[in-house]
Amino acid sequence: MERVRYSLQREIVFDTIMSERKHFTADDIYARLKVSHLKLSLGTVYRNLQYLSDTGRVRKITLPNDIDRYDGNIDEHYHLICTVCESITDLEIDYFNFIDEVVSSKYGLNIDNHNLVFYHKCPNCKGNKS
Ligand SMILES: [Zn+2]
Ligand SMILES: [Zn+2]
Repeated sequence: MERVRYSLQREIVFDTIMSERKHFTADDIYARLKVSHLKLSLGTVYRNLQYLSDTGRVRKITLPNDIDRYDGNIDEHYHLICTVCESITDLEIDYFNFIDEVVSSKYGLNIDNHNLVFYHKCPNCKGNKS
């Protein structure tokens, strides 16, 4: 019985991530579920997010100096971040597989993947200079 409940919670967390093309924090998801009166603790949300990213159903994005985000887009892709409001956008450019090969061969490693983040001021933030 417990197992069913856990998997149900997991699907709810998963559906929340997939509901929008957004990069959710654990807090975002927790806040959303609360609005729909679902009694999941923040700890449960974190546990489910960990499971979902471990099993490759969502992608965990670890950013320098920022909290982790969770992405329903599991294809390799890069992100564009606004330095003011921290909104994150997926970039639709090719993933540079060759960089992994360059580093792997130079250092004799097996690089799994890499991450690139581009920073800008989004049009919204550029507009209001307050
Ligand atoms: Zn912005
Ligand atoms: Zn993304």
